[in-house]
Amino acid sequence: MNIVLATRNKKKVEEIKKIMSEVISGADINIFTPDDFTQCLEVEEDGNTFEANAVKKAVYISKCTGMTAIADDSGLEVYSLNGAPGVLSARYAGESADDSANCEKLLNEMSSFTDEKRKARFACCIAVAAGDDVKTFSGYAEGIIGTELHGKKGFGYDPLFYPEGHSRTFAEMSDDEKNALSHRGKALNELQKYMKEKGLI
Ligand code: IMP
Repeated sequence: MNIVLATRNKKKVEEIKKIMSEVISGADINIFTPDDFTQCLEVEEDGNTFEANAVKKAVYISKCTGMTAIADDSGLEVYSLNGAPGVLSARYAGESADDSANCEKLLNEMSSFTDEKRKARFACCIAVAAGDDVKTFSGYAEGIIGTELHGKKGFGYDPLFYPEGHSRTFAEMSDDEKNALSHRGKALNELQKYMKEKGLI
């Protein structure tokens, strides 16, 4: 079976492959990315929700490649910032901002925030599309935003995010530890449950 992961974010691709590794090897699945298909254009992420963006990416890439496509749209929601950076997480500090600029902007925005106002969650929506036929799965990870960067692993806001009940950030955890707690791990587990129920794997 051929599946294309509808993302150009290499860190996401690594995480998705690792979380689904048993399924991928057990069901003899070949994984592709949009970089393998020159005819596929960049998808504009202009939806107001993670779900809208994930569906848009998965349907476009599935139609463009003729394969089943899995898309991930995800981000960080800080409760006392009314859910920001939210769907703009990748572009919080500007269109071409990198992870460190986004983290720095978030730290600045929250510099006067007490512990109580530092609660946040990561959200992930996974969309699976075969043409226009699409299904979505969501996962969340609750936690606290730190006051400085800690750790070198992962990507995005990982060095600032302490999952609930833990004293290390996602960026200080092993891949397996992060994946067991993360929004992406939880959403992909729902997808894998669904695939098993349907006899797809
Ligand atoms: P997307 O490509 O629009 O889904 O952008 C997702 C953005 O949300 C990333 O660029 C990160 O800034 C942030 N994000 C999503 N998932 C994670 C994660 O697991 N760790 C850290 N940051 C994440």
